[in-house]
Order: sequence, then structure tokens, then C-alpha cells
Amino acid sequence: MFATLAVVMGARVVYEGLRHGSLPSLIANSPMQILVFALSAAASSVASLGFMLMCNDRLNRELEWYATIDTLTGINNRRTLGERATFAIAAAHRLRRPLSLMLVDADHFKRVNDVYGHAAGDEALQMIAAALQSTLRGGDLLGRLGGEEFVVVLPDTDETAARGTAERLRAAVEDIEFALQHRRIELRVSVGLAVIDDHDDFSELLRRADQAMYAAKRAGRNCVCGPSDLTQGPVVVAANFGESADAGRRPL
Ligand code: GH3
Ligand code: MG
Ligand code: MG
Repeated sequence: MFATLAVVMGARVVYEGLRHGSLPSLIANSPMQILVFALSAAASSVASLGFMLMCNDRLNRELEWYATIDTLTGINNRRTLGERATFAIAAAHRLRRPLSLMLVDADHFKRVNDVYGHAAGDEALQMIAAALQSTLRGGDLLGRLGGEEFVVVLPDTDETAARGTAERLRAAVEDIEFALQHRRIELRVSVGLAVIDDHDDFSELLRRADQAMYAAKRAGRNCVCGPSDLTQGPVVVAANFGESADAGRRPL
């Protein structure tokens, strides 16, 4: 708008100058003057409207970010996760492809908060999310279900391949170097795995992954449990429940 106005102003000088031999009064009546005044009046309205639209666009983008992203970890929030997982599950059914879903729950996370404070807990959650994200492939879906629970959806992935990924995720969290006051805080996760079956929707897959995750907790935590573990009968319960990372772990 301002560029147009500048061009018209330039044209006005040339036009009026050529017409009169010298510049006439600024308010002399001529078609060019009418055009310039009309355009100047329109310019302020158009510029204001444009500015408001621009602000609105930025605000919308910000709101969209808050509505789709978990603000603590920067990954998908529960709502976006549900939408995208539902989409991926529908595609898996349609194309008759496998799909795996994992529930990743931080072990004894309450202790991190209790011992080091809530801010340290928040930082630990950010580090866990970053470790999970950097271990996954581009097409995989990661989101925070809430609290210290994360969900991973692996399209086109059967149980065997998903177990490999789950184990890499578990190991990536185990390798996180997180220290406070010169003390290393050990972060661990238990992973429950579910594989798509006919007619499964997101909530059914999540329910089975949750079952498997609790089996992993009972097996001593810091391990992966999948459908085959659940069908092989009860998982061995760790003797010193929850105290040792490896106690009661099933071989993967
Ligand atoms: P388990 O191994 O059985 O999962 O034990 P847990 O302590 O991880 O499980 P529990 O459900 O007892 O506690 C979860 C804790 O996670 C409690 C809560 O304070 C913490 N938590 C949940 N969301 C957040 C968060 O956003 N920030 C922080 N700092 N802590 C959180
Ligand atoms: Mg939990
Ligand atoms: Mg937990």
C-alpha cells in the first residue's frame, strides 16, 4: 500500500509539473489530486487492517502451537497424539500393515521430585522426551500422554521390530547424563508394547500397552514387556521390588 502511494505521489509531481510547467498549489483541483487524496484516505484504513490481520495471524499460530504441543517437553500433547495416532491406525487397517504402540513410563519418578525438587523433575522429563525423540525415526510418532508417561506409535512395525526400538528407547533413557549437585540422577523407563489387531482403535491399543507396561513394572522396571510376555503367563516379580534396575528383567 505504501509503495503504491509512493509511486502515485511521484506520478503526481511529474503529472502536475508537466501540466503547469511548475508545481501548482497542493490543493489545486485536478483528477490527479483527487486520485492522490482518495488513495491517501484508503491507505490508512488498508494499512491498519493489514496490521491487525498480521497480528491475528501471529496469535493464531501461537495458539495453534499451545493447542498441539506439550509446552514442557515440546513434543505432541495428548490431543495431537490421539489425532495423529488415530490417523496412523486407520491407515494401518486400510493398508493391512502392522503398527505398534508403546507406553513409556518413567520409573519411580515421584522420587526424583521428592529428592531433587519439581524443577529437577521437569528437567528430567525434558531430557527423557529429547532422548526418546532422537532415538525414533522420522515417521514415528511421539507424544506425552500426561505426567511421566509418553506414547510412541510405530507405523509399519511388527512386534519384533518394535521390541528392538523399545529396547533402544529404554537404553537411551538409561544413558542420559543428568547430574545435580554433583550427583548423577538415574533415569529409567518401563515400556509396555501393543501390536495392532483387527478393529483395534487408539484407546484399545493404549489399554493393552498399559497392561504390558504394568507387567514391565512388576517385572522389576527398566524393561520392555510386549504381547508375547503377557501370553506366556505372569511375569516374574522382582525379589527386591523396584530397587534394582535389572531385577526380574525378562530377556528381550
Ligand atoms: P512407577 O515406577 O510405579 O511409575 O513410580 P512413579 O513414582 O513414577 O509413579 P507415580 O504415579 O507414583 O508418580 C508419578 C510422579 O510423576 C508423581 C508426579 O509428581 C510426577 N509428575 C507427573 N507430572 C509431572 C510434571 O509435569 N513435572 C514433574 N516434575 N513431575 C511430574
Ligand atoms: Mg505413570
Ligand atoms: Mg512412573
